[in-house]
Amino acid sequence: MPLAERLYRIGCGLLDLIYPPKCVFCAALLPAPQREEGICITCQNTLPRTAPGILRQLDDSLSPVYAPLWYRNRVRESVLRYKFGGRSHYHRVYGPLLRHCLLDADVAPPDYVTWAPLSRQRLRKRGYDQAYLLAQEAGKLYGQRPIPLLKKIRHTKAQSSLTAAQRRRNPRNAYEYAGGFPLSGARVLLVDDVVTTGATLDACAMALYRAGCTEVVCLALSSSVGGDARRTSPNQGHRMT
Ligand SMILES: [Zn+2]
Repeated sequence: MPLAERLYRIGCGLLDLIYPPKCVFCAALLPAPQREEGICITCQNTLPRTAPGILRQLDDSLSPVYAPLWYRNRVRESVLRYKFGGRSHYHRVYGPLLRHCLLDADVAPPDYVTWAPLSRQRLRKRGYDQAYLLAQEAGKLYGQRPIPLLKKIRHTKAQSSLTAAQRRRNPRNAYEYAGGFPLSGARVLLVDDVVTTGATLDACAMALYRAGCTEVVCLALSSSVGGDARRTSPNQGHRMT
């Protein structure tokens, strides 16, 4: 084994001793075979997964939304740690869930993969853009890197701090096409972490349509609403491999 690889393995082993790998959803300690995946067997079998296919349609842009998970309980807690608790590395564990969701729904390769960006102010404070990291993971399915097609032109209050009615109004006209890429006739995959009212994705999708896109398909890691009640059974859906 080359020296660099040996050192890397020793480093990983030491890190495991200091920060033992835990399931990103329930924080259970992971036995060796599940460390790569980052999800314990229990969560693999019981996560609240959505049924494959379009989960909902956005109000203004009418764009379809796909999401592999329902935003509740362990998923909600995990996403909150990912966004606000500095656990930026969770995106590697969320990646296969996103890619399986697109595969199961047979979403055709887009011309661009992009994301709902943070404002500069929030990006500076957080140090990473959680939706960008998810777009990076989703784009791997098509061999595409995320392209910054959008910019946030005004700072909005955190959606999580608002009522449903405020959330719907908050992101309106907050996003604009960033320029630099030919969008006429383009098909875009737009990625975000959570979809609740859908207002953020809708505002982003509308900005992309105004810039000439012909189709915007949305992907979120989790959704708090959508589909019909039959889709909400925690035991339904596919198992992640
Ligand atoms: Zn777990």
